[in-house]
Amino acid sequence: MLTKIKTASLRGVDGYPVTVETDVHRGLPGFQIVGLADTTIKEAFSRIRPAILNSGYQFPREKVTVNLSPAGKPKEGSHFDLPIALGILMLGMENGMQLQDTAFFGELSLDGKINPIRGALPLALCARKSGAKHIVLPLANCEEAAVLGDVDLIPVSDLMQAVRCLENPQERSPYIRKKLADRKPDGLDFSQVIGQEAVKRALLIAAAGNHGILLIGGPGCGKTMMAGRVPSILPQLTYEEQLELTGIYSVAGMLPEEDPVIRERPFRSPHHSISAAGLIGGGQKPRPGELSLAHRGVLFLDELGEFESRAIDAMRQPVEDGFIRLNRNMEEIRFPSQVMIVAAANPCKCGHLWDEKQSCTCSAAQISSHLRKLTGPFSDRIDMHVRVPQVSERELLQRPLQRGLTSEQMRKQVIAARRIQEKRYQGLSCRENGRLDETGIARYCTLEKEAEVLLQQAYGKLGLTMRAYRKLCKIARTIADLKEKEEIGVEEAAEALQFRVIEKEQGSYGR
Ligand SMILES: [Zn+2]
Repeated sequence: MLTKIKTASLRGVDGYPVTVETDVHRGLPGFQIVGLADTTIKEAFSRIRPAILNSGYQFPREKVTVNLSPAGKPKEGSHFDLPIALGILMLGMENGMQLQDTAFFGELSLDGKINPIRGALPLALCARKSGAKHIVLPLANCEEAAVLGDVDLIPVSDLMQAVRCLENPQERSPYIRKKLADRKPDGLDFSQVIGQEAVKRALLIAAAGNHGILLIGGPGCGKTMMAGRVPSILPQLTYEEQLELTGIYSVAGMLPEEDPVIRERPFRSPHHSISAAGLIGGGQKPRPGELSLAHRGVLFLDELGEFESRAIDAMRQPVEDGFIRLNRNMEEIRFPSQVMIVAAANPCKCGHLWDEKQSCTCSAAQISSHLRKLTGPFSDRIDMHVRVPQVSERELLQRPLQRGLTSEQMRKQVIAARRIQEKRYQGLSCRENGRLDETGIARYCTLEKEAEVLLQQAYGKLGLTMRAYRKLCKIARTIADLKEKEEIGVEEAAEALQFRVIEKEQGSYGR
């Protein structure tokens, strides 16, 4: 006697189809799971047997073998409990053989209750792709999987209910989505930032061209406050992107309970003491780290100079590639990590270098070494260095009514500029100016004569490296795109030059 039940396993943030084959044969009573199961699955017997008995069913007194097919791929997760238990119970059933179109997921308690699982959305997505028309899921996971829309979800809360799904498919009751009140947006808007118009402009340019940006300013000047508003000016997530992010948060076990769908671009702000593993993810059953939780959103690195160099090194390649590679059980797992980097730092050790009220106590050598430390991390990714001034009370009083641009107005400009870039880079791997490589810069960032002269002068005067020079060209490209100009003129080049503040400061403190 052999039964087969459809389910799936997780690999990173994706699912792949698995069939649970259960066989019973005469011999000494026993239970064996084969097919590269992880420890959670191997422990399943200790949950499944009591769950079956406590639900009033019989557990076979023969030798039970469960094979998770395909046998060569590693499987992980407690959601195999339910398909394995049903495979065993089906051995004694007359009906319930027509299961080709149904997939099952759920973790069992000893009393037969079905607990929520991790990664429900990617698992359900995989089941649907592999042809399942009905998906049996723990009740608590249905709202999350319902974001898929066109799939029949059958919620179950205990084993007996799941068995009834098998015996009487016509009595199944599909899941009906909750009516949610519109989620209140977080309310963060750039119109709430008073003064700091130059920094807002810099963040607009960074968002438009997907340039990494470093905000340099003393304590309390509003760096974190402004960084937190960057997601509000990025284009809204598409449905596919929402699915992708919800899947990542589902695998991380971090979906909000009430409304388990990620609809907004994430903003993640890991503390500088975070380990490399916390950033890139990992563990025996790999979970996404901060880089993946910030996917398609903003990774904010406050106090950039304080991050351990091991952590910075671990992030470098993933930030460059847009994904993280982890090796588990001879398999490569990928976690996505396309992030916009916004970093912040003090201008010097004491923080008061540009403060009008308090004087800086650092020596010229200290300042210079502090600034040098900031140019190291992500030097390839961080194109813009911006000075964030301490906004004085006088400045605030002078223009109490001037509120500047709202996030929505800024977002419109970002979207328009990104459209131009998308069109220009059609068919290329790069989609935004911030991602242009050397060849791309030479080809797409052509400067008008005057602009070229200006940048070349700066190159000599500030002692820029060739790399910094190329960054200037990319930033100027984005500024021109914001103005819908094809050519990069002297105005755009001059504005771009403002965003190499470290080189300028270093010029005055020696290198
Ligand atoms: Zn200082």
